[in-house]
Amino acid sequence: MNKMNCDISAVLFDEYKIQTRIHELGLEISNSYRGSIPVLIGILKGGFIFLADLARSITIPIEVDFLAISSYGSNTSSSGVVKIRKDIDIDISGRDVIVIEDIVDTGLSLAYIKDYLWQHKPASLKTCVLLDKPDAHKTDVTFDYIGFSIKNEFVVGYGLDYAEKYRNLPFIGILKEELYR
Ligand code: 5GP
Repeated sequence: MNKMNCDISAVLFDEYKIQTRIHELGLEISNSYRGSIPVLIGILKGGFIFLADLARSITIPIEVDFLAISSYGSNTSSSGVVKIRKDIDIDISGRDVIVIEDIVDTGLSLAYIKDYLWQHKPASLKTCVLLDKPDAHKTDVTFDYIGFSIKNEFVVGYGLDYAEKYRNLPFIGILKEELYR
């Protein structure tokens, strides 16, 4: 048995559920952007697996770039103070941009990212988030594509970490509270 599985109290979404939803999102995005070549901007590190799977579910041409941010706060909550650690390389002015984010908690990181990317004058800027915790929002951030809404619990797996671990779990699960409290 995978040693990391012992640290999980419950599996929220297994591989099948995740892939099924991502295929639906891929189809929706492909239909909405026909005739355009959107730039998908993955937010590192948590969004790397989501972006890799979503990109392969999209059937129109796309370009891919990454933005790496770090937010300052405790290990399991965000303070909203964001620092850019790796900037985008593609010139997005006049382009259709879709931000690919792993999870929205307070919404402060995504609000910052949207403000930052609008300064580069894209033609359009949409957001696609795999997980949303509506009860945790501290700002009225909105998104265009969403995978699943979840309760206000700390989750890991499928790109999401705790202290850099668990990103390679193929499912999304709740981390046992005693491991971080
Ligand atoms: P926000 O600024 O919306 O509060 O936080 C967004 C970032 O906090 C996410 O991109 C992610 O890195 C981290 N985060 C928020 N909730 C969780 C969670 O339940 N699990 C993990 N692993 N990271 C989370």
